[in-house]
Formats: sequence, structure tokens, C-alpha cells
Amino acid sequence: MGKGNKDAVSVGNSVGNGAKVDVVTGELCPVCSQKSLALSEREQEIPYFGKVLIFSMTCNGCKFHKADVECVEEREPARYSIEVSGSEDMAIRVVKSGQASVKIPYVADIEPGEASNGYVTNIEGLLQRVKHQVEVIRDTDEDDAAVQKAKSLIKKINRCVWGEEKLKIIIEDATGNSAIISDKVVVQKLAGKVKSAQ
Ligand SMILES: [Zn+2]
Repeated sequence: MGKGNKDAVSVGNSVGNGAKVDVVTGELCPVCSQKSLALSEREQEIPYFGKVLIFSMTCNGCKFHKADVECVEEREPARYSIEVSGSEDMAIRVVKSGQASVKIPYVADIEPGEASNGYVTNIEGLLQRVKHQVEVIRDTDEDDAAVQKAKSLIKKINRCVWGEEKLKIIIEDATGNSAIISDKVVVQKLAGKVKSAQ
């Protein structure tokens, strides 16, 4: 068993594809007005998609946190829909900006807006985030019916993650900064949010 070939050439890890992180600290927090906000910005290359900028702000004082993503190249407003039908679909990449609305019929809707974070994840990560929100309802809601509904939604999400149930996921983003990256995805152009001229 001649496995001891030790004359392999030592090759340094090539430093990542131009990924750089800029961090600024001591900025004014919009929530608690202390100079305890850290801003970070980094670029990430998403295969079969392109470069995105990932921004975040985190306050050390009041724990305010906001994150968002933006495509480096401008993209068309679009609606992505996919039927998730097996555990292998869990690895499909998802880019979701704070301006995206996410609809999972019979499960949940995530609305865009101020409180909505943007992030790069995969289908499983997206489902885990939704599950976490439903768990909060399960653990804190005082309405019995809401708690029961939350419990059954958690089961449904778990079954989907395990590949035992199908779910449809739709992401709409008028800014074009979101995507589901898969051959299975159906992409439709969205009319931009142009004010009616009539
Ligand atoms: Zn703060």
C-alpha cells in the first residue's frame, strides 16, 4: 500500500477571490443614539449569479442589528418561484434582500420593509428562519388556536427539510436584489414599482 508519497508540492492557499471586509466602528446608532454602531460591508461571489455586497450594522449598546444584500450589477425586478421537493433542494442558494417579499403558501409570508433583513442563505436556511419565527409564536402566543397552528406549521417545515413534503417558495423583489439560484426555479419579470402616469 504505497500511500506514503511525501514529495507533494506545498501550495499556499490562494487568497479568496478578492473578498474583502470593511468594518467601521463607533458610528452613531439610529436607535439608542450612542456612538456604538459597527458597520461592515463585504463582497461575496455567488456562483451562477454574480457579486453581491453584504452590509450589516450592529450596535454594541442596544443590540440593534440590521443586515442587507445588494447586487453589484443592477438586476431586473423579478419573481422567483420554486417547488422544493426533496432534501437535495435544501442546498439551493437564496439571496434575499430587505425589500423582498417571501411567500410560502400555507406556511408563512415574510414582508419587506424596515424590519426585514437581507441575507444570503440556502433553502434550508430560509426555512429555518421561518421556523424560528413560528417557534416564537408557539412559545409566546396566548391564543390556543395560534399555538396549535404554529405547532403544525413547524411539523410541516421539518417534513419539508427532511424531504418528506413539498413546499412552494416564491420570492418577489422589485429592486432586483433577490434570487433563488437553481435550474428548477421559474423566473418572471416583475413590473418595476413605477408610478402610474395616467
Ligand atoms: Zn444602539
